[in-house]
Amino acid sequence: MDSEILSLYTWTPGVCFRHPELSETDTVKVKTLHPRSSPDQDLRVCRRCLLALEAIRRAAAEGAGDVYEPGHVAE
Ligand SMILES: [Zn+2]
Repeated sequence: MDSEILSLYTWTPGVCFRHPELSETDTVKVKTLHPRSSPDQDLRVCRRCLLALEAIRRAAAEGAGDVYEPGHVAE
């Protein structure tokens, strides 16, 4: 199940913003920040964080009576 969710995403090497201590690992870009005074910054998450975000989306969808569809954390 987890591996099915992970396979929905395109993984590229990067640093997870929640786990910078992992240094470079497989990541997915979930968001681009546009700070006023510095260049755009990509927020990337590791596998563990992606599954955590999917779990939150799932709980929210179920709570709202919606159908949960994995693979859309980055949108
Ligand atoms: Zn992480």
